[in-house]
This record gives sequence, structure tokens and C-alpha cells, in this order.
Amino acid sequence: MDDAVMSTTAGPDAVGVRSIRVAVIGAGMAGILAGSKLHERGFACTIFEKAHQVGGTWRDNTYPGLACDVPAHWYTYSFARNPDWNSTLAPGPELHAYFTRVAKNYGLFPLIRFGEEVVRVERLDGQWEVTTAGGQRERFDVVITCTGILHHPNIPHFEGVETFEGRVFHSSQWDHSVPLDGRRVGVVGTGSTAAQLTVALAPRASRFDLFQRTAQWVMPRPNASYSEEEKALFRADPRALEELVQQYRSRSVDGYAAAVIDVDSPQLAEIERLCRENLETVRDPGLRRRLTPSYRAACKRLVISNDFYDAIQHPNANLVTSAIERIEPQGVRTADGVLHDLDVLVLATGFRTDRFIRPAKVLGRNGVDLDEVWSTSPIAYLAVSVPDFPNFFFLNGPNSPVGNFSAIETCERQLAYVLQLLDGLLTRKYQEVSVTHEALRRFEDERRLAAKKTVWVTGCDSWYLDKEGVPSSWTFSYGRFVEEMTRPRMQDFEKR
Ligand code: NAP
Repeated sequence: MDDAVMSTTAGPDAVGVRSIRVAVIGAGMAGILAGSKLHERGFACTIFEKAHQVGGTWRDNTYPGLACDVPAHWYTYSFARNPDWNSTLAPGPELHAYFTRVAKNYGLFPLIRFGEEVVRVERLDGQWEVTTAGGQRERFDVVITCTGILHHPNIPHFEGVETFEGRVFHSSQWDHSVPLDGRRVGVVGTGSTAAQLTVALAPRASRFDLFQRTAQWVMPRPNASYSEEEKALFRADPRALEELVQQYRSRSVDGYAAAVIDVDSPQLAEIERLCRENLETVRDPGLRRRLTPSYRAACKRLVISNDFYDAIQHPNANLVTSAIERIEPQGVRTADGVLHDLDVLVLATGFRTDRFIRPAKVLGRNGVDLDEVWSTSPIAYLAVSVPDFPNFFFLNGPNSPVGNFSAIETCERQLAYVLQLLDGLLTRKYQEVSVTHEALRRFEDERRLAAKKTVWVTGCDSWYLDKEGVPSSWTFSYGRFVEEMTRPRMQDFEKR
């Protein structure tokens, strides 16, 4: 994969490379990637980061039980493999340490403006003026937004929440001062976060209530430890490590990625079989029935866990399926009239996935407002470019394959594509480049058509769907993504 990142013609010595100023917004997984590669190639790169540490989602999320359910060896940059992962599914702190290490090793810290939130990006005199919350303004030739998707917490308003005498917080804003052992803990939600919280907290709490609005399909995935011998082998033989990565990639690409885009696929049938088999491990038929979803597996993002069903059967654990009516000083009152006494209430209620760079105001050519362009839903040609926003690119942007395959590989391929578009700036073929309206329309029509065959539209509500019920993800195959990202079709771009 790194070959693709490196394959474009410009290098540090190319004409003008140092004079092209690039603003990268965000220092999470995508921002570290963009910063590393731009810096390596000699671009004048500034990374704006509103927080005080790198790491994005792995910095923000610190909840008990946090781990990545994508195999760690595959969840690494192709140019910075890690032979030292301790287990197949790495815990959050190990992942945060990895991303911090890469940022340090690639010399990014001096380029990062910590504590500087970008609030406005405006096209002025053929450049982008970036304004931060502190009022600083600076001009750049290129902007690459790396602001993540699962970033802005979705915090529902429950009536009476302000009267709660315990502590309440969102899962991504964990309050580590709050004791959990021997306390009465409630978690709202049944997504991947809530499942990990259940496993971590059911045995620690004196009582653990999981407030479920919708049951989720849970797919098992074993989590093996790596021995010191295995790590030494990967260190000594990078090819062995690469083979392991390739195994994980093939399994995911030929399995899950193929399943989600084709409801009739044998891969989806197999996922459903595995989920049903897993559900059968719940001993009590009543509990099993309440945990059984009424929609197809993988319609919502699958919960991946070997331990969730064991945890929800723990003697301390209680699955609450009556709807939350309101919050009272002592706890949560549900529609069946029961008051669930609690000391701590965690909102594992997910994220606002339609935000991207927003709430920053982005004004393109002739004052075109990104908020208006995206008034129905955020869209971008091949997830990378929007008309009237020249030299403005997304990694992990709208319609990116977020629910399909490795987000890191996705971003690496997107960056390789963007770097090829920047080649024209370096060689002075053009000064600005953005997709044409026609090409975006064509892409979007095709994407929406393909969406009809995906599992995401088979009758569930999820964070994949926009206001019109159209999946905001990549609705094509992995092969198509690789092909599209290999080389830009320059006729789809307006150059000036
Ligand atoms: P999520 O999947 O969006 O789940 C949010 C949960 O909160 C859902 O069960 C939802 O119920 C519930 N909810 C929201 N508003 C509610 C309300 N007003 N009342 C009652 N329940 C409410 O969020 P998440 O679990 O944080 O996960 C988000 C994504 O992050 C995942 O899908 C995954 O891609 C990623 N993630 C990954 C890992 C990993 O290991 N790699 C770990 C955690 C998260 P409904 O289903 O009824 O809407």
C-alpha cells in the first residue's frame, strides 16, 4: 500500500514543493498519516489540532474495556507496521501509544498547533484562509481535512437529566474521577461501545443496567495473545508480518466488505449464521428473545465481541428493554413505571456522523457555503473532493468506506490520490483543482443506485443513514475503491 502513497512523481526536491503550504485539520489517525507523508515529501505542512494530544478517537475515548475490534496488525499504517501488538484486538491505550509514537517518529510534533480549533476556512484570493478559535488567521494553498467521523458525541436530551444526583456523562467524555467498583452503573445504548462497557463493568458494578432501545447482532471474534517469540519473529521477518496483514485484509475484503454491499451474498448469509449461533449461547430463552434483533445482521454496524453475551448474563447485569421515560434524582424511570436506582449513568449513545469538518464554517469559491451544499447530506466525489472547493480534500470524508474495510488503508489510498492531484500544482499545470459538478452528480447517482443492494437499507435505523435514509458510506466493492484511488480521472476535475 505504501507504494501507492509513494508512487506520485513529486518528491522533496521537486520544483516548488516547499512553497506549497498545506493545512491539515486534525491530528488523529488520518491527520498523522497526512502529516507524515506531506512532511516526508517536503511540503510546508501545518497540522491544526483542537486538543492537546494526538490520537483522535483513541485520545478521546478512554472508557473501561475500550479496544479496537479490527485486528491490530491490520489496523496500522503500511509504512509503520507494529510487530509488538500484544493481542489480536488491541486495547485503547496501546493504540493511542502507537499513534503517538508514529507522530513522534515522523517528526510531526513541531508541525502541530495544539489547542487551536479551526472555526472558519474561507477561499480568498486563490488561497484558503484558516481562522482558529483564538482568532489567528493564516493562508494556505491546500487544505486536507482529517476530522474523523465518529467524533461529535450524540447526547440525547432525557427529561429530568439535570436532577440526577449521580454522575452522568457520554462514553467519549469519560469522567475518571467517578468510582465504579461496587456502584450501581447504568449504560444507555447497545452499540459497540456499550457492548465493551458491559464486558468491563458488569463484574465490577454492584448492579449493572443496560438500557437497550434496539437489540444488536453480535458477531464473535476470538482475541488471541501474541507471545514474545511471535513478536520476535515479526520483528526479524517483516514479510511474516505482512503475510499476517494480508490474511486479515483478505478475510475482511472477501467477507464483510462483500457482504454489506450485497444483501443476497453468501458472505452475508454466513455472517447471519455466525450471529445466530452466537445468540444461541444465551441460556435463558426470555433474555435471548429480548436480545434478538428484528432486522438483518450487519444492517447496523455489527457488534464484534466474544464476551458480550456472557457479560449480560452476569448475576449483576440487567437488560432493560422498557423505554427510558425520564431521569429522576435517584436514577432512570422507564415506561413500565420501574425506577432503576443508579450512581452512574453512561450515555453510550454514539456520534453525530454528519458533521465532518463542521461546525467550522467553510466558504468556497464565490462564497459557496459547505453547509448549504450539504443541506440534505454530506457528499463528496469519491469521498475526496467537492465542487467549488478547490485544493480542499477529505480523508475519511463523506461516503468514505467507513463501514466496509480498514479505515487506515482507506485513508492511505485517499491520500495517495490527493497527492497525485497536488502533482499538477507542483508542476504548475494548474493552480487549483476540484471535482466538476457533473462528475459529482454522476458519482452520487451511481452511489445511490448501488445503495439499494446494500444491507444498510434493509430496515433498520443506523448512523450509516442520512436524513433521506441513504447510506452515507461507500456502496461499492473494495476492488472498485482500489481502482478509483489508483489514479484520478483528470477529466472529472476542473483545473484553473
Ligand atoms: P452507536 O453504534 O451509534 O450506538 C448508539 C447506541 O445508543 C444505540 O444502541 C442507540 O440505540 C442508542 N441510543 C442513542 N440515542 C438513544 C436514546 N435517545 N435513547 C436510547 N438509546 C439511544 O454508537 P457506539 O456504540 O458509540 O459506536 C459507534 C461506532 O463507533 C460503532 O458503530 C463502531 O463503528 C465504532 N466503535 C468501534 C469500536 C471498535 O472496537 N472498533 C468500539 C466502539 C465504537 P438505537 O440502536 O435504537 O438507535
